[in-house]
Amino acid sequence: MKRRQLIKQLSALPLIGGLFTPGKVASAVLPDTVERRDYYKELGLRTFINAAGTYTALTGSLMKEAVLDAYHYASKQYVALDELQDKVGERLAQLIGCEAATVTAGAASAITLGTAGVLTGLDQEKASRIPTDLSGMKTEVIMQKSHVIGYAHALKNCGVKIVEVETRKELENAINEQTAMLWFLNANNFKGKIQYQEFIEVGKKYNLPIMNDAAADVPPVENLWKYTDMGFDLVCFSGGKGLRGPQSCGLLLGRKDLIAAARLSAPPRGDRVGRGMKVNKEEILAMLVAVEDYLKRDHDADWKLWEGQIRHIREKVSTAPGVEAKTHVPDIANHVPSLKIRWDQNKIKMTPDEVRQALRDGHPSIETVGGDESVDITTWMMNPGEERIVASTIYKILSKKS
Ligand SMILES: *Cc1c(COP(=O)(O)O)cnc(C)c1O
Repeated sequence: MKRRQLIKQLSALPLIGGLFTPGKVASAVLPDTVERRDYYKELGLRTFINAAGTYTALTGSLMKEAVLDAYHYASKQYVALDELQDKVGERLAQLIGCEAATVTAGAASAITLGTAGVLTGLDQEKASRIPTDLSGMKTEVIMQKSHVIGYAHALKNCGVKIVEVETRKELENAINEQTAMLWFLNANNFKGKIQYQEFIEVGKKYNLPIMNDAAADVPPVENLWKYTDMGFDLVCFSGGKGLRGPQSCGLLLGRKDLIAAARLSAPPRGDRVGRGMKVNKEEILAMLVAVEDYLKRDHDADWKLWEGQIRHIREKVSTAPGVEAKTHVPDIANHVPSLKIRWDQNKIKMTPDEVRQALRDGHPSIETVGGDESVDITTWMMNPGEERIVASTIYKILSKKS
């Protein structure tokens, strides 16, 4: 279909008519002002109360006004991409208290770029050969079986092979001249046979860099510096989870030489594995401001707010006959007050899946998570006040079905 035909056809649709009318296309010559529009509504999209948490599929988190202001500010003038990364990286390293830092396109991108840097050092020619030709580079990354997750694919983007081990003995035996790096999944520290100190000890013993994926692991705020302080050479965080920066951002923190090496695989350089992981000036600046804002927050007040919200939902839904709601706080990742709602499925004839769907289909729509046993809730990604709607809606659904 020709573009003009498409525009004509679209503008005939009442719902999204405003979006594509030819008059709007011509408005480039008019002053650069905006009218308030309801874009999601124009597109016919469902918005929802996020009682789930920081999920990529649910678009992560909402940015604070200061972060949006930085985003807007950055969009008004040009800067050189590398110069901006240099300055923002320096500031981030100062603020967080690590040797060096850079803004990446998410924690997954931090993993890929950090790995690339470990493989190449400051050799541009090597960087241009990842992932198809690793000659002259090391090719293996070792991790514990209990630390293997889908996100480890971000390592494989560099063409490396993943070697899985369980015990310290297996780890030391697996190390050979092809070993590039040891990799650690922070959230699974307690699930592994080799925990922080011992894992780091082995890395140091064999002079191997160690990367820690701590993507979802603030709060608490001190985790931002805890792991580089511990001795991990590279640490990865998501920008759009607890930090509430742009969802397409992440942080790679750690050793100066390794961060500089990682940058060789990042844009603006074109022939590199990270070329598709571009972070624009708006996002880079917004990420910095998100970290500043996060460091300044009253974390105790945040915690009290979340606890109060969770208590409210727990108390309300527990009054429905046969319903039991329990508060818990995950040890490491998503370390926030959380609620598991269970019920006697002989009395209340609905599965957790059906309850989640009913919540999704309601007005307002509410997103929750959980498995076959429970509906799971966190409130940290909600707007304050929404916990009342969540509480009464869940109560209504569960008490009606008994
Ligand atoms: C979310 C997550 C990632 C990916 O983070 P992005 O910022 O979305 O790229 C990687 N590892 C773990 C453990 C995560 O939780």
